[in-house]
Amino acid sequence: MTTTLADNALFIGDNGRLCCNALQCAGSTALATGRDLSGQAVMRLDVAAVREWMSYGIGAPRCECGRVTLSQVAGPDGWPAVK
Ligand SMILES: [Zn+2]
Repeated sequence: MTTTLADNALFIGDNGRLCCNALQCAGSTALATGRDLSGQAVMRLDVAAVREWMSYGIGAPRCECGRVTLSQVAGPDGWPAVK
């Protein structure tokens, strides 16, 4: 299956759920189209979003399947590095 969702990244859906690009985590609809079942585009978490997330004191953002946890440090590509 091809995907519009990048590796080693987290995406947030309209309902606030975090997912990575694993099939069981994102679901086939988001994985194939970049949109969740309600038709809303899933947004990739950038460094600013990770910092905001961590400012709530709830730890580093991690997807539901647990495969991807992001740090608030930008990687070489400018997106948050994986922990
Ligand atoms: Zn996941």
